[in-house]
Amino acid sequence: MAVILDGKTLAEQFRREIKAQFENERERVGRLPFLTAMQVGDNLPSTVYIRAKERACAEAGFGFKHLRLPEDTTMDQLKQAVREVNQDSTVTGMLVQSPLPGHLDELEVQKMVAPEKDVDCFHPENVGLLYIGKPRFQPCTAQAIIELLLHYGFDPAGKRVVIIGRSVIVGRPLALMMMLKGRGGDATVTVAHSRTPNLAELVRQADIVIPAVGVPELVRGSWVKEGAVVVDVGINRLPDSNQKKGYRLVGDVAFAEVEPRVAAIAPVPGGVGPMTVAILCANLLKASGYHLPVWSKQS
Ligand code: NDP
Repeated sequence: MAVILDGKTLAEQFRREIKAQFENERERVGRLPFLTAMQVGDNLPSTVYIRAKERACAEAGFGFKHLRLPEDTTMDQLKQAVREVNQDSTVTGMLVQSPLPGHLDELEVQKMVAPEKDVDCFHPENVGLLYIGKPRFQPCTAQAIIELLLHYGFDPAGKRVVIIGRSVIVGRPLALMMMLKGRGGDATVTVAHSRTPNLAELVRQADIVIPAVGVPELVRGSWVKEGAVVVDVGINRLPDSNQKKGYRLVGDVAFAEVEPRVAAIAPVPGGVGPMTVAILCANLLKASGYHLPVWSKQS
């Protein structure tokens, strides 16, 4: 039986520690962590993710504002909105929820966000700092994966890691972070993508497999080495009339086939997703002038 990398429970623990850190230092810092999440249009998954962030902030005692802009917002209007949040000294962190409607240029918007408020770590300055190994913030999903592995005793150091997916949000920063020297790093990393031939064969060589693709149940049981560790990042909504919401969530891993073969697996839902929100809260704490809880220093 595989160990389940229970991100839901670990995220609750992280959020409790974040709250305790906030309360301990509140007097010294004298500043309320406050997140503004900007959404353009009404993409349903985006609304769900923002609600999760709002709940996490509320639980920690942080301020939160969901700033909703209409679907037909122009680039100039969006830039103006970002400028206003940048200038608002009561806001300590901000994010512009991806994806934006097609007529808006995501990179242009990310470049507008004040780097010191960029808790998603998308601004080129923050990406550059990460690249040289001096991060201001940690990319949330990538750090969520690393914390989950470390907590359960699966240190990537010295391991052969195969990441499937090379997006700017997940695959690329994760590959960099796991390759860098130090905590959560020192792995030998291979990044696969849609042009990678013989993917199953490549995955079979991995001690740690991390699919971040968006293809339901892409990774089959026969693809993984016995005793490997699998962190499923994919979040795919499949129509399901038996569910109240009308859909169910599945990952990029065929869980029932893979679980019996592996040492540990992060499920979907309840794995990386909740941890991502906890790391966002940690970034917000840091952006607001607080220290991070001790987990960030443990190996
Ligand atoms: P993108 O669509 O930006 O990237 C997907 C990557 O997968 C691309 O690099 C693509 O290759 C690759 N890919 C697509 N099809 C295949 C295939 N058949 N074989 C191998 N590689 C393939 O997605 P994201 O990185 O934004 O998200 C990936 C998944 O992770 C999604 O399900 C998303 O919902 C989930 N996610 C989860 C988060 C969490 O907190 N748990 C946070 C963010 C995302 P190429 O580059 O060649 O096109």
